[in-house]
Amino acid sequence: MIAFDEARHQVVSTAILIIAERVPTHAAMGRVLADDVFSPEYLPSFDNTAMDGFAVAAGGQLVPEGTELKVSAALAAGEAAPAIEEGACEIMTGAPIPDGLDAVIPVEQIQVLERDADMLPRRIRLLQALIPGANVRRRGQDIAQGDLIMPAGTRIGTAERMVLAALGIAEIAVRKQPVAALLTTGRELVDDPGQALLPGQIRNSNGPFLAERLLECGAELHIRRSLPDEAGAFTEAVRGCLQAGVELIISTGAVSMGRYDFIPDALRELGAEILFHKVAMRPGKPLLFARLPGGALYFGLPGNPVSSAVGMRFFVEPAVRACFGLAQERPLRVPLLHAVDKKPGFSMLQKALLRCDETGCLSVQLLKGQESFRIQPLLESNAWALLPEQSAHLPAGTLVDVFGLNGNGVVLNRVEVNHAG
Ligand code: AMP
Ligand code: MG
Repeated sequence: MIAFDEARHQVVSTAILIIAERVPTHAAMGRVLADDVFSPEYLPSFDNTAMDGFAVAAGGQLVPEGTELKVSAALAAGEAAPAIEEGACEIMTGAPIPDGLDAVIPVEQIQVLERDADMLPRRIRLLQALIPGANVRRRGQDIAQGDLIMPAGTRIGTAERMVLAALGIAEIAVRKQPVAALLTTGRELVDDPGQALLPGQIRNSNGPFLAERLLECGAELHIRRSLPDEAGAFTEAVRGCLQAGVELIISTGAVSMGRYDFIPDALRELGAEILFHKVAMRPGKPLLFARLPGGALYFGLPGNPVSSAVGMRFFVEPAVRACFGLAQERPLRVPLLHAVDKKPGFSMLQKALLRCDETGCLSVQLLKGQESFRIQPLLESNAWALLPEQSAHLPAGTLVDVFGLNGNGVVLNRVEVNHAG
């Protein structure tokens, strides 16, 4: 049996960085950059006004309150700047600053002295002094051409999408998504939700859960199969996965010590190298990690739903992160809300609720119903708490590692602020 941390370390160091592909920016949400991105343009791309008002030539000097100016042009966003021979130019937010002008006085800070036949301002007076550069958004003030804007390893989210769009970047290099297969084993499993259960049958809940998690962490799921408890069918399915170019195989069930737990032997027969089988953790102890001929990684997760969830969260997801070249996540350190006793010798992964009290302090509550067959507490949980292997009694207030529901650092998304009690 291998320790929890050591097993995770082995998984991450076995996963190999996958190759890159170029994709259109609009199809890159959630993908991980393979190369650094440098800005091809300046942002803003020209000096422009931050306010509706009047552009003025301050000439590097304070323009005193009371100054009167002729208005010789008007300019909207989207128009090219005219040449201004004298005086001010009426200007709307986003419009370019005409050459020679260098400050903008907001429309609220002037008085119109004279209007033309169309009621457009002809002469104005400044009601306040104007500093050179005031209300001008400089070319490149946000991003300069050539700036490193996103390092390799950045996951493309909405902010990245906005910046890429602003800079006219149509295509980026991202890590290819690992191709995964999901095999659920167990003759008791029923996939069709419309089918009535016969005696002894249960519904396959791991399949849909793990499929969603695989997609969410960035894998492409090409094969999904439910298999009976037969080594022959299993072997044939794994061969099919390898022929189809699958890089990551995840199975549930059949890795424990029961009579129908055939996976370890079947994998050996397929020529797999079993890197570990059994981790000193609960739930999920029988987890198996192997490398198949050709290099595909194999995760044999135990069948109990929470065991498979723990295997996915703490082993499969870190492997996918490593394939993308992403840094491994760092847990939060949060005090336990209540004391807890546990058996030493196992790391315990607990369904947990990260809470924020009325003073803004975080604590973590271990939820009732920690057994590995109980999935209802997952509805209430927003985090996983890790109780260390050697500990036996953990008093209230003990700092423990808290992980988000997925590995992408979103632990704070669902923290219930000022949760009652
Ligand atoms: P196993 O690891 O195959 O011994 O299964 C352990 C427990 O998990 C048994 O009670 C199984 O019926 C249950 N189980 C196995 N696979 C699934 C699944 N896909 N969905 C829900 N429960 C499962
Ligand atoms: Mg089984």
